[in-house]
Amino acid sequence: MTSLSSRLPLRCWAEIDLAALERNLKSIRASLPAHMRYVAVVKADAYGHGLHHAAARLMHAGADLFAVANLSEAASIRELGSGWPILLLSPLLPEEDRYVVDLGLAATVSSIQEVRRLAEAARQAGRNVDIHLKVDTGTGRLGVWHPDTQSVYQAIVSEPAVRLAGIFTHFASSDDDPIFTAEQRRRFLAALDRCTGLDRHTLFIHADNSGGLESIETAGPFNAVRVGLLQFGVSPRPGSLLGSVRTEPVFSFRTRVGLVKRLPAGATVSYGRTHTLRRDSVLAVLCAGYADGLSRAASNRGQVLIQGRRCPILGRVTMDQTIVDVTDVPSVQAGDEAVLVGRQLGGEITLAEFSQGADTIPWEALTAITKRVPRLYRTPLGL
Ligand SMILES: *Cc1c(COP(=O)(O)O)cnc(C)c1O
Repeated sequence: MTSLSSRLPLRCWAEIDLAALERNLKSIRASLPAHMRYVAVVKADAYGHGLHHAAARLMHAGADLFAVANLSEAASIRELGSGWPILLLSPLLPEEDRYVVDLGLAATVSSIQEVRRLAEAARQAGRNVDIHLKVDTGTGRLGVWHPDTQSVYQAIVSEPAVRLAGIFTHFASSDDDPIFTAEQRRRFLAALDRCTGLDRHTLFIHADNSGGLESIETAGPFNAVRVGLLQFGVSPRPGSLLGSVRTEPVFSFRTRVGLVKRLPAGATVSYGRTHTLRRDSVLAVLCAGYADGLSRAASNRGQVLIQGRRCPILGRVTMDQTIVDVTDVPSVQAGDEAVLVGRQLGGEITLAEFSQGADTIPWEALTAITKRVPRLYRTPLGL
């Protein structure tokens, strides 16, 4: 029996087009040389799209490997399909090592100490453990600093229980600094050269994320890409389509009008009285606020679509409600749909626009959509 709460009318929800996700993977793959493997980055609940549904569809579409942030995300993917290779992108807490071995995951390793820890965990379990060696070429987060790569590589080679499954780096400014990105590529290639005996054909050798795909080097030893944002149909470079890769939006974010009311010129709107009406106005109070993921930064600057028309947000976004100006939209009524991200009757608010309105980046805007917002899946498999 379905619970009462799941049968109630929706006030604020996200719609996820899984068929578009699948087409995006295929279109990204088609834009790459055939030998490039596809690492689907599905951390943070698949960028807020829902890990189970997104990962299942990406499996169906032919992802080669999944990348996640933590063990709990990896365990969710294991529940879907036992054989899939999974790479953990974040550093492990010491007491997490044994779960990497148990679940058969690949760990990201930056230091000799981590190599030894994982080797010990593998020995204790009587098994082997896979790792991807990460090289810090200038991002200054994870990875061994590039001139020191060889020392960690040697530690890996000297541990029989540790199997090197990949080697990679991550770019600091792939979406806006091609010169530094090229320098990072050079540093990575030089680090690879110092690892003698490295088998370039069996390893995953990867660097590019969504932002790198435009300047991707296909001639070198790279044989995999890590794709997060772009597979969800969002370009990391607002306003420009990435090279020849065409993707379509997967995500839309919708709410409804809860109340329509009139206020005279001179009245102030919402908390802090940050907006004063300049004319007699018709306002719509929407059933979504910052507790749903509509950032308070969108106060007095974001827009929504109602009847396909753009309606500006007036005053502060509040926890559960947001006020928009519908003076110029005829006959708005309680119950009408309002679009925060997506299309409606020829109008469109892209995720890029929504993020800019919230004074943030698309990655954060997507992962800020909260648990209160049900995700509805369009085009599940078999339809
Ligand atoms: C999140 C992440 C990615 C994916 O980046 P996108 O820009 O979303 O494609 C790739 N690699 C690493 C290490 C990451 O943390």
